[in-house]
Amino acid sequence: MKTEVVASEKVKAFDCQHFINGRFLPSQSGKMFQNINPATGEVIGTVCEGGKEEIDLAVAAAKRALSGPWKRMTTGERIAVLRRIGDLILERKEELARLESLDTGKPYSLSLTLDIPRAAYNFHFFADYLRSVGTEAYQTDEVAINYSIRRPVGVVGLINPWNLPLLLLTWKLAPCLAAGNTAVIKPAEWTPLTATVLAEICKEAGVPDGVVNVVHGFGPDSAGAALTEHPDVDAITFTGETTTGKVIMAAAAKSLKKLSYELGGKNPNIIFADADLDEAIETTLKSSFMNQGEVCLCGSRIYVERPIYEQFLQKFVAKTKELVVGDPFDPKTDVGALISEEHYERVMSYIELAKEEGGRILTGGKRPDGLDQGYYLEPTIIVGVNRNCRIVREEVFGPVVTVMPFDEEEEVIAQANDTHYGLSATIWTNDLRRAHRVAARIEAGIVWVNTWFLRDLRTPFGGMKQSGIGREGGMHSFEFYTELTNICIKL
Ligand code: NAD
Repeated sequence: MKTEVVASEKVKAFDCQHFINGRFLPSQSGKMFQNINPATGEVIGTVCEGGKEEIDLAVAAAKRALSGPWKRMTTGERIAVLRRIGDLILERKEELARLESLDTGKPYSLSLTLDIPRAAYNFHFFADYLRSVGTEAYQTDEVAINYSIRRPVGVVGLINPWNLPLLLLTWKLAPCLAAGNTAVIKPAEWTPLTATVLAEICKEAGVPDGVVNVVHGFGPDSAGAALTEHPDVDAITFTGETTTGKVIMAAAAKSLKKLSYELGGKNPNIIFADADLDEAIETTLKSSFMNQGEVCLCGSRIYVERPIYEQFLQKFVAKTKELVVGDPFDPKTDVGALISEEHYERVMSYIELAKEEGGRILTGGKRPDGLDQGYYLEPTIIVGVNRNCRIVREEVFGPVVTVMPFDEEEEVIAQANDTHYGLSATIWTNDLRRAHRVAARIEAGIVWVNTWFLRDLRTPFGGMKQSGIGREGGMHSFEFYTELTNICIKL
């Protein structure tokens, strides 16, 4: 990677090369693609496009590294390396936050306070957690004892989306390394920067060559497909769209790879009349529009109990209008730019569709005045739609929410569950019994009551139905990133 000293916050970024076997490597085919800053539409760098050749090199390096110094490290040594990665991320947090915002268009303040510290914490957390990872032992009457041992799965392919690039990459890479695996990372094509710096950081922290590899590129007919098809890749952990997950599953089936999936969502946010309304609105602003609504956990379907429906709407619309959309590097900005022109058009097409479906836009629905460059969209609130509308059923992944009234608990549970997705849900109520009752009946991997996005990394994270397969977090991550062998000894 060619690093440059950048004088201005907004000018040039970097040219990204692959990172294979401990060193940066240019594109083998000569293919490159442009990296565009979504806040301006300007090209901020070029990225090497990898394909089968680079993936072959990276997987071979990762396979060799499994039996090298990495394998011989003690648990204590591995913990020290992981902690050091976390420390180095924090040491470079301003730089990483700047790169994350240049790549994604998200507010710099968000990168600096959420994405980057959380990326560091992922390493610190899994380093600490590693100390307590155990196995099982059973005595079979007087006949035998059984105990199990853990070993790494092997070479793991990590395929990542663009919305929380470093946060989600480290959420996978930290437990992957803690468990002793080696990794081939395929960052999202829109956001190559922080993954490239992370490779550099890993090396500096003492990760042996070949243990962490990064190959840039696209999905189909590119680095992504080559990684999922490679026979020497033992497991794939993928975060991205449900449709992509289906393609990857078919490719991975050829060599029966272990899979972990964190996919799309269309998450309900249910607000009962007895909720603390101001608190619910404050948090709903975040769960609707944080990171431009480009968070898989955003609650894009808001259901409000009828007695407070009008009051909720009035306050929610007023607060939404106060959100500042604009330059990610302006400290006043609440909502930055969407990731790409293509995605912007897609989100706009959903807004048009909602209108055709009878929806009324209470605020937003258009590019903010005065922001002619970049992919900016005003936070958008839509009413007047029903459960059959596509705007209510399909993931938009932008700053767009629908609000619908409801009358009965049963009715709202049925509506919340009327989806192929099952990632997360939020419930607002002060009725203790109702909170437990409804939470247990919502078909989602994560249910928040009177809060949103509050995470304890020991808890299971993931979705049911078409929102994912498996769980990560705490012990769940170790279940995925290790293989167990049961040893039975006859007494
Ligand atoms: P995407 O599926 O388009 O791309 C994700 C990654 O997969 C990218 O790196 C891409 O290059 C790669 N890819 C695409 N096609 C591939 C193929 N055929 N083979 C191998 N790799 C391929 O998703 P995205 O647009 O980057 O991210 C947005 C989606 O991610 C949304 O649906 C969102 O809900 C989901 N997401 C889920 C979670 C979660 O934890 N459940 C978290 C963040 C994002």
